[in-house]
Amino acid sequence: GRDVKGVLKRNWLLLATITSVILGIGLGVVVRDYSSVSHLGKQYFGFPGEILMRMLKLVILPLIVSSMITGVAALDSEVSGKIGLRAVLYYLTTTIIAVCLGILLVTTIKPGVSQNTDNIDRTGNTPNVTTIDTLLDIIRNMFPENLVQACFQQYKTQRREIELPKPNVNATTTTFPPFTTIISNVAQNLTKDYKIVGAYSDGINVLGLIVFCVTFGLVIGKMGERGRILLEFFDALNEATMRLVQIIMCYMPVGILFLIAAKIIEVEDWDIFRKMLMYMVTVLSGLAIHSIVFLPLIYFVVVRKNPFSFALGMAQALVTALMISSSSATLPVTFRCAEENNRIDKRITRFVLPVGATINMDGTALYEAVASIFIAQLNNYALDAGQIIILWPVRSIMSTVASIGAAGVPNAGLVTMVIVLTAVGLPASDVTLIVAVDWLLDRFRTMINVLGDAYGAGIVQKLSKRELERMDLMSDVDAVNP
Ligand code: ASP
Repeated sequence: GRDVKGVLKRNWLLLATITSVILGIGLGVVVRDYSSVSHLGKQYFGFPGEILMRMLKLVILPLIVSSMITGVAALDSEVSGKIGLRAVLYYLTTTIIAVCLGILLVTTIKPGVSQNTDNIDRTGNTPNVTTIDTLLDIIRNMFPENLVQACFQQYKTQRREIELPKPNVNATTTTFPPFTTIISNVAQNLTKDYKIVGAYSDGINVLGLIVFCVTFGLVIGKMGERGRILLEFFDALNEATMRLVQIIMCYMPVGILFLIAAKIIEVEDWDIFRKMLMYMVTVLSGLAIHSIVFLPLIYFVVVRKNPFSFALGMAQALVTALMISSSSATLPVTFRCAEENNRIDKRITRFVLPVGATINMDGTALYEAVASIFIAQLNNYALDAGQIIILWPVRSIMSTVASIGAAGVPNAGLVTMVIVLTAVGLPASDVTLIVAVDWLLDRFRTMINVLGDAYGAGIVQKLSKRELERMDLMSDVDAVNP
């Protein structure tokens, strides 16, 4: 009796959240049937969920800024360099594994080959995004020109119009546009003038802020005694923010209940899922294999602890990611789970988690690879073995880049999909083919993105054990004779 009570007490929030997911689905299904109610309440139903999203987004800024600056400043620059390097190595390794897994699955399952997908809407606007511009945008974002603006508005993107090599869709087998065409296209576009066509309006330029905060933290760390006041300030800010997060998490079950109910009421075309079944099965099984086999295996090999109890400790963050499909907005919860349930050192989480939420996206990378090949299959590209081999590295690299470039916000992976499509010579407008099911796949890939970040923190902590212990010793000496 006591044991059960203890478990309930410790996990009440998780249990409440899972219950609210189930209740929310039920509520959505019921309300959907009463069309008059759903008609009336459609636009208001999700309101409590909207409030939850707003609260989570609200704390992203103070959380990222305070955790990055204190995280970097607290480690001396030699150690933080080592930790950063290990983190980046982990990010790249797991992302590439995810991409290869995706390519392997989609080329074996072949969800897009000779399937009755005729009814999928093929008329979409061509987004004015090109590979080279998107790449430049990623770098441009790292250097925000205005710090305040970077906090409340995402960069203006600068776009150039591009002529894409058009595949011949009418023929039964389409010939692949030769590589030279693609390369000369890119070269042509480098020399064209800038033309500002579009701008992302939502969110924070997280990548830019991270670059700034890392640099700022390094500088503060080097300032010694004079820098201490800033360090203490940001440290206090961090603690205060985490207390806010604690309050927000009490509201979470309510918000999530209405978020999921509203989504179920809102979806118009459930039929599309039947048509896209094999595609969704491919993506989801890839995500499942990556998160149940590969990530735990790597964790076990390095850390030598049970990877699944680690994942269980992250459960609250995983459910949150699944419900709100944004790794940035999940970040506050990821922090709490990693530090409190899995006991990861704050010096590691502060550094590894915000960067991970922004650039380490295993789920998205896998998705990019699968989706781009799915679209190629729909377009009837008959690739011979040679082309497939040539395209492997192109696709892998581009899918990796696309996942790094995707911001941790809902459907970001869909936007950066265009990088992959144009790089392999597919029409960028074909992104519209997969839009209809993205709200569902987005949730699952976000969940895997968050899980990958968490395992990363655990692995980097293990690898950096010696440095951390040495620092503990030194601060003990400091404390004894200041
Ligand atoms: N929504 C994902 C995330 O926040 C990004 C994506 O669209 O793939 O991690």
